[in-house]
Amino acid sequence: MVTSGHFWLPVAADGARARHAFRGRRWEGERVSEAVCGQTLPLAQPSEMDWITFKTCDECWRLLLVEAGISPEAVNAYVSEGG
Ligand SMILES: [Zn+2]
Repeated sequence: MVTSGHFWLPVAADGARARHAFRGRRWEGERVSEAVCGQTLPLAQPSEMDWITFKTCDECWRLLLVEAGISPEAVNAYVSEGG
């Protein structure tokens, strides 16, 4: 099993603003990196507002859950129930 870890980073690319997950412990200043969801994205130092306003990339989120052995459906049910 591969458990190299991941980190989240807000990315604005082509008008699409989302928090994507990337492999590694933390962002080390790469200009471009491949997200967990397979998109190659330009990276930049995010502002505090980016963290607050960007939505999480559904695909990255789902893939990480599956890797962790968690069913995304189970989490969805929990989230909607918790309101
Ligand atoms: Zn993504």
